[in-house]
Amino acid sequence: MQQRSSFQVVDGQLIGAKQIPSPNFNQRPAEAKIELVVIHNISLPPSQFGGGYIQQFFQNQLDSTQHPYFETIQDLKVSAHLLILRTGEVLQFVNFQQRAWHAGRSSYLGQQECNDYSIGIELEGSDDCAFETLQYQVLAQVVVSLQQAYPAIQQHVAGHSDIAPGRKTDPGPYFDWVKFRSLVQQIKNSK
Ligand SMILES: [Zn+2]
Repeated sequence: MQQRSSFQVVDGQLIGAKQIPSPNFNQRPAEAKIELVVIHNISLPPSQFGGGYIQQFFQNQLDSTQHPYFETIQDLKVSAHLLILRTGEVLQFVNFQQRAWHAGRSSYLGQQECNDYSIGIELEGSDDCAFETLQYQVLAQVVVSLQQAYPAIQQHVAGHSDIAPGRKTDPGPYFDWVKFRSLVQQIKNSK
């Protein structure tokens, strides 16, 4: 199998991703350097896949009459830089040079406000089921591309639950870090 990454970062855009702009972003602090990737999971309604509701949610276009759960989140203004669907398709909502709103109150290695200096990647998934193999393969390729574009990331890839313990549980117990890290290493070795 061809393991070389098919993604490339140009001017904060991921070539190979479908661009779906979200209004939910602001500028990173002037001194902020991109040095962390945060992995999340999301599904709307919870534990249901497909339907395009996550995309609508990140664009503030979710119709709250479509599902009772949507009423509970309709006032939230959030985003991630990337969403990897169950099909492996990658969507980009926010340019990497901008600050997406995915981490909330958070801390990594003693540094607060992870949104300032991180890239947020959502996997379409939930805490109660396995992710697709294709999602791992695509995620690993994307992360390698990001590490090349932003060398300060190095090995700094964390789960939302790692940077907001007690408050967040994603990417959840089914996210296989060993599998993910070994795929990243395979792609690096093949370069
Ligand atoms: Zn999260």
